[in-house]
Amino acid sequence: MAGDSEDRADEQASDARRGQISENLAAVREDIAAAARKASRDPSEVSLIAVTKTYPASDVRVLAELGVLDVGENRDQEAAPKARATAGLGLRWHFIGQLQTNKASSVAEYADFVHSVDRIRLVAALSRSAVRYDKELTCLVQVDLGNAEPMDDNAARGGAFPDQVPELADAIAAAPGLNLGGLMAVAPLGAEPGPAFERLHTLAMRLRTTHPSATMISAGMSGDLGEAVAAGATHVRIGSAILGIRR
Ligand SMILES: *Cc1c(COP(=O)(O)O)cnc(C)c1O
Repeated sequence: MAGDSEDRADEQASDARRGQISENLAAVREDIAAAARKASRDPSEVSLIAVTKTYPASDVRVLAELGVLDVGENRDQEAAPKARATAGLGLRWHFIGQLQTNKASSVAEYADFVHSVDRIRLVAALSRSAVRYDKELTCLVQVDLGNAEPMDDNAARGGAFPDQVPELADAIAAAPGLNLGGLMAVAPLGAEPGPAFERLHTLAMRLRTTHPSATMISAGMSGDLGEAVAAGATHVRIGSAILGIRR
């Protein structure tokens, strides 16, 4: 019967997708471990965040079944319904994109981490929302490592200038409902990622002198995870190497 063979085709497609994600994930985990060993670091110091933007909630479910509970998204209008569709799986949502102040309340509802805090007004808005939802939201200061070229999806790279980091960090640490996690950056386009990530590491070490618990360094994507791990990244944000090239 037509219905049965369609179900069967769907099942085969989803088995194939699962196999592909599983294989890619194993390769990424091995790349992270190899980069860590090369830098004389323990691979367990580096956490993987799977970036699921443009991919469906069914892929998020596959990732959860494969043990990946940290997932990242960069647009609220896409992330909010995906988080709702996968509620109950124990996922931790990392918001990693440019965030408009008027979206802070929506993001604070499902996110556990916001990596892209780059201005004081956003700190205030996230704090109000976290308090309203009675939750602790971990915030990272996004640092502009020297280039404001637009990224994919027409989203600006964003980030605070390095000299603004202390003020933003202090504001997050003092804000009700917010925890200061550490720093995040995207490597500048058209420049070597290694030296940029080293600058981020220096800023992160400086931050720890005043905020010792702010230990997160969120750096590294599919194309530059090796350089990021070498420069001390604690969290890498990997999309295309796990889920495929976005169209
Ligand atoms: C899309 C995105 C990633 C993941 O990029 P890939 O190259 O697909 O691994 C990481 N960080 C941010 C901020 C992103 O927007």
